[in-house]
Amino acid sequence: MSQRTLVLLKPDTVRRGLIGEVLARFEVKGLSIVAMDLRTIDAELADQHYAEHVEKAFYPPLREFVTSGPLVALVLEGDEAVEVVRALNGATDGRKAAPGTIRGDLSLSNRENLVHGSDSPESASREIKIWFPDLP
Ligand code: GDP
Ligand code: MG
Repeated sequence: MSQRTLVLLKPDTVRRGLIGEVLARFEVKGLSIVAMDLRTIDAELADQHYAEHVEKAFYPPLREFVTSGPLVALVLEGDEAVEVVRALNGATDGRKAAPGTIRGDLSLSNRENLVHGSDSPESASREIKIWFPDLP
């Protein structure tokens, strides 16, 4: 079933010059880019996006990180896109993520782990509305 999902190439991806490398993983898999935008976000958008995490101990440094420079926000579309993107991203902690995944191949951090992917179709529609309110 074709789905849409919200993907972020976080500021570490941009800083490290890995936009092309990471985007290519999604493209060669067969996912379509429906929307794409390079932008620097403020704390308010970070809090909205990470609403489920704002009270957690790891959140203040995470907010610092995601607002620290430009990131690339994307909507990707394809068969089972939510689950497919999560699998390509790999486990949250780059040190534990499996080789072959984006985080497993390219990140050595639990926070600076390069990518975000919506965790369910419901999260995807909530997040797409936040990042791309005008997307039909
Ligand atoms: P995700 O869905 O795999 O991105 O992981 P979560 O939704 O659990 O967490 C959101 C983001 O917060 C992660 O991608 C990390 O950037 C960061 N994060 C999550 N857990 C931790 C943690 O225990 N320590 C640190 N430093 N960052 C974390
Ligand atoms: Mg998450």
